[in-house]
Amino acid sequence: MSDKRPRRTFAVISHPDAGKSTLTEALALHARVINQAGAVHGKDDRKATVSDWMDMEKARGISITSAALQFVYRDHVVNLVDTPGHSDFSEDTYRVLSAVDSAVMLVDAGKGLEPQTLKLFRVCALRGIPVITVINKWDRPGLSPLGLMDEIEQEIKLRPTPLTWPVGEAGDFRGVLDRRTGEFVKYTRTAGGAERAPERRLSPDEVEDVDADVWSAAVDESELLSLDGADHDQERFLGGETTPVMFASALQNFGVAQLLELLVELAPGPSATAGVDGSVRQVDDAFSAFVFKVQSGMNTSHRDRLAYARVVSGTFERGMVVTHASTGRPFATKYAQAVFGRTTSSVEQAAPGDIIGFVNAQALRVGDTVYDGDAIDYPPVPSFAPEHFMTATAKDIGRYKQFRRGIEQLDQEGVVQVLRSDLRGDQTPVLAAVGPLQFEVVEERMKNEFTSPIRLSRLDYQVARRTDAEGARALRGQRGVEVLQRADGTHLALFTDKWRANKVARAEPAILLEGLPAGGS
Ligand code: GDP
Repeated sequence: MSDKRPRRTFAVISHPDAGKSTLTEALALHARVINQAGAVHGKDDRKATVSDWMDMEKARGISITSAALQFVYRDHVVNLVDTPGHSDFSEDTYRVLSAVDSAVMLVDAGKGLEPQTLKLFRVCALRGIPVITVINKWDRPGLSPLGLMDEIEQEIKLRPTPLTWPVGEAGDFRGVLDRRTGEFVKYTRTAGGAERAPERRLSPDEVEDVDADVWSAAVDESELLSLDGADHDQERFLGGETTPVMFASALQNFGVAQLLELLVELAPGPSATAGVDGSVRQVDDAFSAFVFKVQSGMNTSHRDRLAYARVVSGTFERGMVVTHASTGRPFATKYAQAVFGRTTSSVEQAAPGDIIGFVNAQALRVGDTVYDGDAIDYPPVPSFAPEHFMTATAKDIGRYKQFRRGIEQLDQEGVVQVLRSDLRGDQTPVLAAVGPLQFEVVEERMKNEFTSPIRLSRLDYQVARRTDAEGARALRGQRGVEVLQRADGTHLALFTDKWRANKVARAEPAILLEGLPAGGS
């Protein structure tokens, strides 16, 4: 029998240290974990150096950067897809967002919006992914709640609609006012926050352990917000105009149960999805899924290769033979795995919204569709504006064939974007990445997997914008800019700094095209 429980598939977008791991652990604690697949990184993992990280991946035989966690809450199946974030920030971090239906924006109450959060938010905005905001670390001194609301509205043009409002200032967290019911949700600390924090709901005239003026200050501010129209509106939330906000302390487990409630109540589940030809697949049509991440070379001796796919429609049954849209060939799924992780349990069934990993899927590439029944091909996962650039050359020119093949493969997998120009010639392609760690992966795989060690050398560019052949001609010879081409023909103009890119955009608006998120901040 297929599992008909509703799905909630989301990711947490945040800046390093905002508390994503702590929140993930707290969520898992509150819910019943089905597949704890390495989503909760131990501290030691993340402090590890790059080379350790590579070794760890090999030792475990599976990615630690792309974990997901699946759990049940109130008879809903919740899929938390991890966004790699620290030194391993890369295109994968962005791509994960093509696999989710909503995002939780986790903000450190003491720091407000930070660069990585803003970058990820922009991708959510572009893709129309609704965002729930959690102001974290309210147990310690932070910015004023109204100030934080103002920052969100000004910086990202999203109207905050707080569902709860803190009682007591940051650092003296007593509980929250539930703005929808008017109740006081009282929190009690537990030692180390290791257990579910007790939460009691009290009506306004039962409020206890809080000074009358502290409570009335919260009520006043909440009324001010209502007068200003900052109340939740489901349609505007789903339309990406507003963000419900709640205050929490992941470390103390405060607000964690409320977040789960919000996900179940407000966050959207999987919905009908259109293919490139405009045909639409409903969630209960025949099985289909698209690949949003490919990982290989973790174990060079076995040449293992994992393709992670999000189920879009139908029920996936392990062993079924599906069609690979881009080649039209059959694809056998007998080695499908449950959501990613360190442990490799096989998945028997998956529903729309779930994530499956296909082992040894040599043919599958990022953006590929697999389906059962009528043909469907989902639009490609977009690539993102790179911010780091290096030239690559083969250390041993005698291994140029291997070099070429390796670079081509890594380009197709989307490990880095490969750019070329007549000027630079074929032997020195430019590698472009969103995060610097992508280069380490390339170096390692070129040496071990493609047996052609490479030399990388940094280029002094910081910004990439899309242009076309005409733009390329117009920019030729200008200082601080160079135009290169991707294998798919896209022209990218690389600038040494943002200022130059903006100058061109102002002087000759037709040259720089839309299409890649702005990147950088
Ligand atoms: P990540 O980098 O976003 O995964 O952040 P972590 O979950 O590793 O948290 C970073 C640091 O902030 C750790 O020292 C946590 O203990 C701490 N932290 C996380 N949540 C809270 C919170 O709600 N309150 C306080 N005071 N500290 C927190």
